[in-house]
Amino acid sequence: KQITIQTASKTYPVFVGSGVIKELCTFINSAFSSISKVMIITDETVADLYLFDIEHALADFQTHTCIVPSGEIAKTFDVYYQCITFALENKLDRKSLVITFGGGAVGDLGGFVASTFMRGIPFIQAPTTILAHDSAVGGKVAINHPSGKNMIGAFYQPEAVFYDLNFLQSLPLHEKRSGFAEVIKHGLIHDSSFFFWLHDHILSLEKLPVPDLGYMLARGIEIKRDFVSVDERETGIRAFLNFGHTLGHAIEAEAGYGKWTHGEAVVIGMLFALELSRKKMGLSFNHEHLKRWLEQLGYATELPKELRLNKLLERMKQDKKSINQKVNFVLLKDIGSPISYEMTDEELLNGLYIFQKGE
Ligand code: NAD
Ligand code: ZN
Repeated sequence: KQITIQTASKTYPVFVGSGVIKELCTFINSAFSSISKVMIITDETVADLYLFDIEHALADFQTHTCIVPSGEIAKTFDVYYQCITFALENKLDRKSLVITFGGGAVGDLGGFVASTFMRGIPFIQAPTTILAHDSAVGGKVAINHPSGKNMIGAFYQPEAVFYDLNFLQSLPLHEKRSGFAEVIKHGLIHDSSFFFWLHDHILSLEKLPVPDLGYMLARGIEIKRDFVSVDERETGIRAFLNFGHTLGHAIEAEAGYGKWTHGEAVVIGMLFALELSRKKMGLSFNHEHLKRWLEQLGYATELPKELRLNKLLERMKQDKKSINQKVNFVLLKDIGSPISYEMTDEELLNGLYIFQKGE
């Protein structure tokens, strides 16, 4: 399946399906008149599993593969610097192309490398995680600073996204869970029938049938597109994509990065936002049903008692999406219709207190 992403700065295709990676050479040959060299940026885990496949898929070109550590540690200034050094040593130039091959970490890092190397060279995303249906589309690329995630980055759109479903089978269960949380989010904020389809059809993440996987990732990408195409630089509705993330990010940071996967923390954040939506927006919605489904899929659904509420509140206020320390929360008027709502500290603390107590 092909999805076209149209933003103010660029229009590009996303190919989703089993075996789409085989079309990579054909695409590059037709999209660029001359590509001097291709730099593949991937991580150790993905390289161990699939390096042969990606190099084979790029057989027409002279490739140089830069292998970075797996996970969030790839998004450091050190690793970024190593990638730039690697590119210079291998004499990449402005006619070169970067391929990011891996999850969101590799995509964010590699996209940032591409956006800054010689003031920007083209790149193509080849995502290998479920989460990357979110991160590979929309053009946000970044690395972290010790004092905050994604603090150094750019808006820089890829030339294309090749999302080959064959790479997803090897994902560990907790990584599937992390990515699937964003699929649920896309349903909740934009398409209630998609959300209920997920709810009724996806009862385990262990063996996801390829057609289901293809459908849900493609739909997730279309929904993300609908937000980013009208608001590339997040001045308005793109912020709705942060549903569940204000508290989710705070949990990730407060617990210590790595304790929770991103999506597992976002699930708690979404449950909290739904609870607030019930109170503030009169959302009518079967909470218990949702919780049971999420638990069946292996998610935690309660805010751990050891997390200190005032610390979480501080984190939410520091979030770079908060403006002047006020926390703009994304709530739902209905499944599929988000709204931004400014919360006072008191409302938030009180809400968190009740949520943590589990009442
Ligand atoms: P990741 O890239 O760290 O991948 C998770 C783990 O899975 C890693 O250990 C990786 O080596 C491994 N892995 C990847 N593909 C695999 C495969 N096919 N089989 C087995 N193992 C595999 O993380 P992620 O969860 O994909 O993405 C998280 C990152 O994405 C975060 O840094 C987050 O900030 C970023 N993100 C960016 C955006 C954006 O808009 N740019 C949006 C959401 C998230
Ligand atoms: Zn997210």
